[in-house]
Amino acid sequence: MSKVFDFIIVGAGSAGCVLANKLSMNPKTKVLLLEAGGSDNKFWIKTPLGYAKTFSDPSVNWCYSTAPDIGLNGRTAYWPRGRVIGGSSSINAMAYLRGLPHDFDDWETAGAKGWGWETVRETYEALETQVELNPDGTKKFQGNGPLIVSDLSKNMHPFSQHFLRAATEMGWPLAGNLNGKDTEGLMTLRSTVKNGRRWSSADAYLRPALKRPNLCVIKAAKVQNITINGTRATGLTYQKGGEIHTVEAIAEVILSAGAINSPQLLQLSGIGPGGLLKNHGIPVRHDMPQVGEGLQDHLAVNHYFHATEPTLNNCLGHPVKKIFAGMQYILTREGPLSVPVNQISGFVRSTPDATVPNVQIYANPISYSTQADGSTVVEPNAGFLLCAQPCRPSSRGTVHIAANDPNVAPTIQPNSLSTQKDCDMVVTAGKLLAKLAQTPAIQRVTKTRLNPDITTLSNAGILENFRNRASTVFHPTSTCRMGSDKTTSVTDSHCRVHGLQALRVIDASSFPNLTSGNTNAPVVMLASRAASLILKPS
Ligand SMILES: Cc1cc2nc3c(=O)[nH]c(=O)nc-3n(C[C@H](O)[C@H](O)[C@H](O)COP(=O)(O)OP(=O)(O)OC[C@H]3O[C@@H](n4cnc5c(N)ncnc54)[C@H](O)[C@@H]3O)c2cc1C
Repeated sequence: MSKVFDFIIVGAGSAGCVLANKLSMNPKTKVLLLEAGGSDNKFWIKTPLGYAKTFSDPSVNWCYSTAPDIGLNGRTAYWPRGRVIGGSSSINAMAYLRGLPHDFDDWETAGAKGWGWETVRETYEALETQVELNPDGTKKFQGNGPLIVSDLSKNMHPFSQHFLRAATEMGWPLAGNLNGKDTEGLMTLRSTVKNGRRWSSADAYLRPALKRPNLCVIKAAKVQNITINGTRATGLTYQKGGEIHTVEAIAEVILSAGAINSPQLLQLSGIGPGGLLKNHGIPVRHDMPQVGEGLQDHLAVNHYFHATEPTLNNCLGHPVKKIFAGMQYILTREGPLSVPVNQISGFVRSTPDATVPNVQIYANPISYSTQADGSTVVEPNAGFLLCAQPCRPSSRGTVHIAANDPNVAPTIQPNSLSTQKDCDMVVTAGKLLAKLAQTPAIQRVTKTRLNPDITTLSNAGILENFRNRASTVFHPTSTCRMGSDKTTSVTDSHCRVHGLQALRVIDASSFPNLTSGNTNAPVVMLASRAASLILKPS
């Protein structure tokens, strides 16, 4: 195998697959894509509901844990991240939301020039094929991009209609499509699913490029550190099968290892906060105070209800019916296994005077519990859950190496609820959820509100319950964020690491701030636009 490439990309996740495709379009450009995990050709990856299985499966998942988090009453939290071809897009819940216009305008304000809403909207439109449904149930296709985004309402549980009725009773609009003109209201969630199968970044971008002789993909290759010569990244070392390999990049090294591993790799390579590196005996090649700083994530807490009508529990909570659903899926690619459990979602205002929608609602026709090992147990009785998640937390945490060793997981400190604004939003969102739980449409189908009953909690009780029970929504971002200079950011608005040549970070780490909604769509958009900036720098 050649050891010299034009571009070397680290990580075949949501971002890395996009880059591998776009940078290898020119047959003269040699591209190497290195992925620590293995093949994504697995039943539970391809089956939409299979994410309950991959959620805690170490064969496809880094299975990280955070440090004790004071804002969550000292609890540590389980943080799954994909370690497989497709990265987290192979194990995520497939919800597709672009984010809201002001999220990206705030990127621009933070110094990421050229990433405002009007520009990124065009990138979204080019990358998506939206599969919508006509009133008679037939499909209509919008756009011509590689990422398939489907309206799965035909296969959603009929119970979900109660959530839409409750939304109307709350005075919330019913959004036609939050990935189009609408920016507010609830809708049947759109998903990266094609014909009943997960449609990851690997399916959309990597697979179509695999036959190109100028693209080399190496699985089970764990990058150890980047080689720096003077101020230029010239290649990297990776471990595969117990051996260390060295490869050279003529044009660029691109880190797309995700919001936890990209800052870890920079720090292991001597690029990061000088004090941290010295503490671990790493020579400081480029003192960059912001590498691993700025971590943001969504936090939420589910409130569970027993239902008076059948929900997904009546099928997925019963061994025999579960087998039947499995057979239905294998034979027809339809039924409960073909749809993620997040069925109704959208953006609403926490109070009427909020200037933008600032809470994401989730309403799922299922209740379950998550065990200490991360596995999920569906209850046998009919149940459902409601959840109100603040869209734009302001708390920021850190990702710091814990040792000068690529095999030691970094220390993740989310610093959850470390601003008063975030604590206040938790209370406001909780009160909104209590109102939703008391709408006639929800009350009609509620048998019991399970403890803690959100409608009975005081403001202090809502916050304390959140501190005791909230979990990540799996959206870490911003640990190598774009911005104007190295005192406040890690890269410029072309994702180039400040002060170094031939080194970029392009993945969820690059977000100047977390966006409203789920993060896979903005990561794919970011990688898609960053690839254009690499190929046609302005
Ligand atoms: C359980 C879960 C559910 C989620 N649900 C949703 C959802 O429903 N909708 C949504 O929009 N978003 C969701 N997300 C978030 C979304 O999937 C991520 O934001 C997005 O995939 C991140 O993309 P990325 O390219 O930054 O990182 P990733 O996709 O995580 O890719 C990083 C890749 O780099 C590889 N890598 C890391 N270190 C190394 C190394 N040293 N050497 C080689 N390779 C390395 C990893 O193995 C991985 O494949 C979810 C995430 C999880 C984990």
